[in-house]
Amino acid sequence: MKANDPSRTSWVEVPKNSDFPIQNLPFGVFRTASNPAPRVCTAIGDSVVDLAVLNYLALFDELEINNTVFNNRFINDLMALGKAQTRALRDRIADLLDAKNGEARDLSWHFLHPMDKVEMLMPVQVGDYTDFYSSLEHATNVGSMFRPDNPLLPNWKHLPVGYHGRASSIVVSGTPIHRPMGQMKPADAETPVFGPTRLLDFELEMAFVIGKKTNMGQRISTAEAEDHIFGMMLFNDWSARDIQAWEYVPLGPFLGKNFASTVSPWVVTLDALEPFRTGSPEQDPTPLPYLQYTGKKNYDLNLEVEIKTEGGQAKTVCRSNFKYLYWNMCQQLAHHTVGGCNMNVGDMCASGTISGATPDSYGSMLELTWRGAKPLQMPDGSVRKFIEDGDTVTLKGWGESNGVRIGFGEAAGKVLPTLEG
Ligand code: CA
Repeated sequence: MKANDPSRTSWVEVPKNSDFPIQNLPFGVFRTASNPAPRVCTAIGDSVVDLAVLNYLALFDELEINNTVFNNRFINDLMALGKAQTRALRDRIADLLDAKNGEARDLSWHFLHPMDKVEMLMPVQVGDYTDFYSSLEHATNVGSMFRPDNPLLPNWKHLPVGYHGRASSIVVSGTPIHRPMGQMKPADAETPVFGPTRLLDFELEMAFVIGKKTNMGQRISTAEAEDHIFGMMLFNDWSARDIQAWEYVPLGPFLGKNFASTVSPWVVTLDALEPFRTGSPEQDPTPLPYLQYTGKKNYDLNLEVEIKTEGGQAKTVCRSNFKYLYWNMCQQLAHHTVGGCNMNVGDMCASGTISGATPDSYGSMLELTWRGAKPLQMPDGSVRKFIEDGDTVTLKGWGESNGVRIGFGEAAGKVLPTLEG
């Protein structure tokens, strides 16, 4: 992949520590005040590149891509082109933005927009969404709070536990979230009560997006999985702990999870993440053959969560890493499809909360404050056991290798009071 060459630089200014050097080139969808039609774009430095205009200027002609994929509300059709074409497209964009290439530079006023002047839209039309539970540390922490004698259930090390979630409420970064109402049963109450959740939480996760469909009955092996995964995003699986605790028996998460999930606006291609490939934690016991794999299937990606109180300063409350996950994406996808469940382009699978071994790497308030027992001190003097109205939770993520930082931007959401009525 030519686009990954760490020696490349762009004629577009890329600030130090930008998530978007020429080696990244993620895909998103944007619009502007002067042109409200959504179109597909990429990011470089602090700028957004309108790919529909590059296509209109005939700069992609040599690729022979179906050019309806650019003037589009979502990137699904682009992903469905397949990796041979999307790789060629990413390489071509890198060439057009390369400091050594003047082909597009003089026309840049047609297609380059300051990122802070555009509106980023939800980039993927998500058909189905699945949430896994693949961090050993998270599963052990949560399990030990609710079942001190028996934190990890017997199936956990034999299969990547997950549930089918709700796609309709996955929203792009910047979309406010209303505190959900629901039914819960406080520990000291004999009967359940109804009201706004008192235990609103975030979950630090990453999601992968399917770019290649399968038919019913077809399985995806761990070796084939990467061909079906187009890219990754940051994913905050907002959770209402009190609603969840009361409802989850015996069929699992429902209203405690389905009111909102926040994703970053950029889909970073698996290709761009190649430099960060790393091994996974050793699996003992050895999983069944269909979950075994060869090679390095995990990624070394730093993850952070910030909480900003209303009018206050942001505080980083968690520093974790994607590489901690016990079950990798290839195993998750192999398991998801082993019964013949078909996958469609745009389907999203989230990792589950990504916690590390140390308390500052826990990926949820539930773990960070140990269910409220150890509140977090905020810069404005207030304390947090869970998330309060007016708080903004922001997820960030990036890898760094050979002096090149490939980032995901951010997945931010502000919590508003429960909707009246
Ligand atoms: Ca989750």
